[in-house]
Amino acid sequence: MGDCLFCRIVERKIPSKIVHEDELVVAFEDVNPQAPTHMLVIPRKHIPSLKETDAADAALLGHLMTVCAKIAKQKGLADSGYRLVTNTGPNGGQTVFHLHIHLLGGRPMEWPPG
Ligand code: 5GP
Ligand code: ZN
Repeated sequence: MGDCLFCRIVERKIPSKIVHEDELVVAFEDVNPQAPTHMLVIPRKHIPSLKETDAADAALLGHLMTVCAKIAKQKGLADSGYRLVTNTGPNGGQTVFHLHIHLLGGRPMEWPPG
């Protein structure tokens, strides 16, 4: 989608620090990190949010999760732990409407979230 920020990152029309990419997903550093490690893992395909997914997307969603685990391991977070977040819709605090998983680590996380 031409007007979608993350589609433009996938197309490399907007620069980002890409840490992983394959045929299905791209992972890059968040421009406004909320933790020492803060990556965004997104599908190449434009899906606005988790709300628009269904059973046909199960393999893609599973792949997004396993890529998060792989990056966390590469960043040395596997033992200290990390958090995955997918903000969805207004109450979820979503601001960019291209599905993404936040991978946060490098410090203890609090609960409940804000
Ligand atoms: P959301 O609020 O939708 O869950 O998360 C959107 C995330 O995208 C935010 O953490 C924000 O910092 C990040 N972000 C917004 N614009 C850009 C950008 O141009 N480049 C990168 N790398 N991250 C961005
Ligand atoms: Zn998009």
